Amino acid sequence: MIAQIKIDYDLCKDPLSCRQCLSVCPSVVFVCGPTKKWKGRETDPKEYRIVGRYFDKCSGCRDCIKVCPTGAINLEFIAQDQLAQIYKEERAAQLKERTI
Ligand code: SF4
Ligand code: SF4
Repeated sequence: MIAQIKIDYDLCKDPLSCRQCLSVCPSVVFVCGPTKKWKGRETDPKEYRIVGRYFDKCSGCRDCIKVCPTGAINLEFIAQDQLAQIYKEERAAQLKERTI
């Protein structure tokens, strides 16, 4: 089983100011970065997103959920092949969006 972490971005709107999940996670599962790369100007702080990336490191302690002030984090454990299928579908959807 492997962790799958989803962030509700309607609830997590200012990750650069908050960063509580990043700070508390003992396994450094989260990363925070801009959604786009901008040339010639600084990225607006509102365009940063927290994502769970290093799922294999997650111990399931749920500390991130406890500290999140907005309840934006959802964590569940799923089978590894199921996660691979989810990634495949998300990737296909992203590619489809780019070609439209
Ligand atoms: S459950 Fe624990 S180890 Fe997993 S992402 Fe949250 S704080 Fe990190
Ligand atoms: S703790 Fe919650 S609100 Fe704060 S950055 Fe993490 S996901 Fe967003």
